[in-house]
Amino acid sequence: MNEDLARLPGLLSGYAAGLLDGLDGRPAAVQPVPPPARPLPPAAGLEGALADFAERWEPGFSGGAGPRYLGFVTGGTTPASIAGDWLTTVLDQNPTSLLDSTAPDLEQETLGWLAELLALPSHTGMFVSGATMSTTAGLAIAREWLGERAGVSPAEDGTAALGEITVLSGAPHSSVAKALSMLGIGRRRLQAVPTLPGREAVDPDALDEALTALGGRPAIVVANAGTVNTVDFDDLRAIAALRDRHPFWLHADAAFGGFAALSPSHAGLVAGLDEADSVCVDLHKWLNVPYDSAVQFTRRRDLQTQVFKNSAAYLGAPGAADPVHLTPENSRRLRALPAWFTLRAYGREGHRAIVERNIAQAHRLGGILAASPGWRLLAPVRLNVVCFAHDSRSPEAVMNDVAASGEAFVTPTVLWGTPGIRAAFSNWRTTDEDVDRVARTLVQ
Ligand SMILES: *Cc1c(COP(=O)(O)O)cnc(C)c1O
Repeated sequence: MNEDLARLPGLLSGYAAGLLDGLDGRPAAVQPVPPPARPLPPAAGLEGALADFAERWEPGFSGGAGPRYLGFVTGGTTPASIAGDWLTTVLDQNPTSLLDSTAPDLEQETLGWLAELLALPSHTGMFVSGATMSTTAGLAIAREWLGERAGVSPAEDGTAALGEITVLSGAPHSSVAKALSMLGIGRRRLQAVPTLPGREAVDPDALDEALTALGGRPAIVVANAGTVNTVDFDDLRAIAALRDRHPFWLHADAAFGGFAALSPSHAGLVAGLDEADSVCVDLHKWLNVPYDSAVQFTRRRDLQTQVFKNSAAYLGAPGAADPVHLTPENSRRLRALPAWFTLRAYGREGHRAIVERNIAQAHRLGGILAASPGWRLLAPVRLNVVCFAHDSRSPEAVMNDVAASGEAFVTPTVLWGTPGIRAAFSNWRTTDEDVDRVARTLVQ
């Protein structure tokens, strides 16, 4: 291993640089045909392992970080975020305790910058692995808030101490149901509230009615700031105002939509986000840092500590402000560093430019499709996602043809019962020329 250590910089930087160079030309998606399984071979050393990986595995990896991968909501990786990610690994900090390094302070600096960009002055944040974990943590704090109202602590006594919990949402992301399953609240406790006509945004009057029907029983409301199909936004201010008359915890899923705050002409979509009690924001999507990275913001750090405290003599004084008491994980990597690097390198201006470019690109593709015979938009382009369909080709057929071309990757969905296709723009590398290439691949 000492020999490998000496050769590591040369071996790795050359290989990785080649991959980075080739990213634009890499097939956006590949038909996954894994190499035949084999038992653990004799030790090959780093050079041998690299050669084996390059031959057997790397060709089957997608161009997910490339400019024409428009499936799901898949962010790219800025150069500075890659540097930060490498350094995260090289320095291998465990920012769990305040006893041995300033790594947790770098996290705090980064979280402060993010709160600034996302206009969340009343929140404190913590890094987690993704939006699903952020929502799980947010809803765990919500559960503890319900306990506070009822004079019990679900963290101490279990969720059963609360009885049945009601969770209300207009068009919640599937991860909300998963979070409710993990938290012992239950997927079936998620109650759909009608949305506005032709929209994925919740109808505030219908939400008011649903809350009234609870007769004063405290609930959880999950507001959506950027839905995955049509990137619709609930009226966060109107929802927050309902707290004057009904007791509820407001969790906002702003996984990627939160970044609308960076574009002055779209920031109105997330007006009121700061009023949410907890906010979920993904960084591995529109901030363009590598997986896995997201933030959980809350206004009730006291309840957060009640849920996640992990007191043990060997971990330091119980009740200390160590990060170990604030997130689902105990040990974890310094996820803040890639975000710190990209924010320091490109600032608000650079990240605003990514967001605004991607929005314009979604409109560009939407415009081309709307004007092409046989194609139609299933919803107006609101932000960075185009949701569309073809009159005679099924979404799966379109996805497969596009994927087989290697040119691009788009994914199927169902919007209001209609099968469709999504193209989501969230990569700094994507150019208008890429948009036109995607359009040519679709419209032949
Ligand atoms: C992607 C996404 C999630 C889940 O995020 P992960 O990072 O995959 O856990 C939740 N909500 C919304 C709106 C999303 O776009």
